[in-house]
Amino acid sequence: MQSEFSQAVILVRRYVEQLARLGVRDFYIPRDALVVRKRGKAKEFEEMAEALKDCTRCGLSRSRTQVVFGTGNPGTDLVFVGEAPGYDEDVQGEPFVGRAGQLLTRMIAAMGLSRKQVYICNVIKCRPPENRDPLPEEIACCEPFLLKQLEIIRPKVIVALGRFAVQSLLRDMTPITRQRGRWRDYHGIRLMPTFHPSYLLRNPAAKREAWLDLQEVMRELGLPLPEKKT
Ligand code: SF4
Repeated sequence: MQSEFSQAVILVRRYVEQLARLGVRDFYIPRDALVVRKRGKAKEFEEMAEALKDCTRCGLSRSRTQVVFGTGNPGTDLVFVGEAPGYDEDVQGEPFVGRAGQLLTRMIAAMGLSRKQVYICNVIKCRPPENRDPLPEEIACCEPFLLKQLEIIRPKVIVALGRFAVQSLLRDMTPITRQRGRWRDYHGIRLMPTFHPSYLLRNPAAKREAWLDLQEVMRELGLPLPEKKT
C-alpha cells in the first residue's frame, strides 16, 4: 500500500534523480515536513487518547474496565472499524484481540499487510455490558471521537466490519448481506462494508465473500492482488 507519505518519498526521490541527471551534485535537504506531520499525527493521537481515558460522556463509562481507543498506524490509508470492545478488548485495552481479532489479523495479512500498517478501532470505545448492542444515545456520544480519529488519519478507505458498524455509521438498516461489497461514502471517505470476523467464525462459508470485499479494497489502494490459481 502506498501511503501519502511513501508516495511523497517516491516523488522526492524522482526529483532528486532528475536533478542528479542535470548535473546537480550537492543538495540541501531541509527537515522533512511530511515526517514532522506524521509525528504530529501520532502526538495528536496520544493527546486524544489521554483526554479520552477518563471519558464519562455516556453510561458505558460505569461498566468498562478501560477505554479502548484504537491501535495501528495513524499515517495509514486504511482503517478498519468494528462495533465495540468485547471482553478481551476491555481487559487488554486493544481492539480485536480475541479469536475474532486473530481472524482479522489473518485477513489483513492476506491483503499483504500487517496490523501495524493499518489502523483498527471501533465505533464505540467502551464495552457494553454482556456485549449487548450499543444504544443510539451511546453511539451519538461516542461517534464524534471516531470522526476526530478519521480527521487526523485522513485514510483513503474505511472497512466497516459487521452489521452494527455498517448500519450505525451509514444510518442504513439494510441487512449486511445486502450492503457488503458495495462502496459507500462516510464523511467523504470511501467505505467498504463487509462481515465481522466473529460472524465469519460462526459462518466460515461467508469468508469467500469477505475476501472478495477485501480484494475490492486492495484494488482501490493499488495493492497487488494474489494471482488466481489455474
Ligand atoms: S463509550 Fe465513548 S462516549 Fe461513552 S464513555 Fe466510552 S469513550 Fe466516552
